[in-house]
Parts: sequence; structure tokens; C-alpha cells
Amino acid sequence: MPHRPYVIDQMISAKAISARVEALSHEITAHFKGTNKLIVVGLLRGSFVFIADLVRELDLPVEVDFLEASSYGDAMSSSREVRILKDLRGEIAGRDVLVVEDIVDTGFTLSHVVRLLKSREPKRLEVCVLLDKPSRREVDIKATWTGFQIPDEFVVGYGIDFAQRNRNLPYIGKVRFTD
Ligand code: 5GP
Ligand code: MG
Repeated sequence: MPHRPYVIDQMISAKAISARVEALSHEITAHFKGTNKLIVVGLLRGSFVFIADLVRELDLPVEVDFLEASSYGDAMSSSREVRILKDLRGEIAGRDVLVVEDIVDTGFTLSHVVRLLKSREPKRLEVCVLLDKPSRREVDIKATWTGFQIPDEFVVGYGIDFAQRNRNLPYIGKVRFTD
């Protein structure tokens, strides 16, 4: 499958992403105003570009940690079974936590991660996702903040891959097979 020829059609420009990240960061800053520390938890690997841009716009004391849940691998659809491949380094009990995810699709990944992190009893836990595909949802979960709602297309760029490629694109585009 990864060897089928494809092109990438731009869907969201770098400029539109950066404007949206700035707006989201203002809302997040306002929400957590007065916190002594916000632990920003990025879900690896797809959120690494988004989290890098987001934290630089937050006007708050911030700590960054990462968690890796099992992903699609090289496939293009969800496995429904979520495993934790890499856990947080730090404690979140009694802390303010912001979970940052690239895409919420069926919702299995995010709901699993949120349930796990809530079991550690953070003071507050909110979720920020860059992209939401509402038409694909199977598990009832809603992020506190969403960057963009998108149709049911397989997307890449701005940290998001197809078989580990295309994470370095500055924009978000959809994969279109040409064979
Ligand atoms: P869910 O568990 O909500 O079905 O899947 C969420 C995960 O699937 C996201 O973290 C993301 O890594 C991956 N995913 C969902 N849609 C896409 C997509 O269009 N492109 C890529 N590369 N990954 C996706
Ligand atoms: Mg992911």
C-alpha cells in the first residue's frame, strides 16, 4: 500500500494553521490563567509540530511531556485497540494538564488516553486537537479545543505522516492516489 503512487493536494495552508494556532493559544492561556504550571502532553508522533508551535504561543508556565499510543502503523485505518508504547516521564496528580493530539478520527485513541490520564487524578485535564473528522466518530469524545473540522480524507503534513513520510510538510494536505 505505501508503494502506490500518490500526490498531496493542499487542504489547509501554513498561514491558516498559524493563525488558528495563535487563536487557540489565546483561549488556552485565558482558560489556565493563574496556573502555577501547565503540563502539556503531546501524543507522539503526529502532534510534535503542533505542540512545538502551540507552546511557544502560550503565555503560561509550561512543562512538556510526551506519551505514545499505538497508531495505525503503516495502514490507513484505525485498529480500535489502543496500547501505550511510551508513558509520561512525569507525575500529573493534582496538576493542570493539556493533552495535545493531531487528529481525532474514530475517537478510540483519545478516549483511551484521556481515561488513563484522568485515572491519575490531575486537577484539571483539557484536550486540544488540531484536526477533527466528526463524520468518522465511533466513541463519544469531544476535545475542549479543535483547530479545524475536516471531511473524511486521509491527511498528511505539519507532523502527520503517511507511512512515516511527509511529516515535514508545512501545510496539511490530503493523499490522492494516482494509479
Ligand atoms: P482514532 O483512534 O480517533 O480513530 O485515531 C486517531 C489517530 O489516528 C490519530 O492520532 C492519528 O494518528 C491517526 N489518524 C487519523 N486520521 C488520520 C489521517 O488522516 N492521517 C494520518 N496520518 N493519521 C490519521
Ligand atoms: Mg496519532
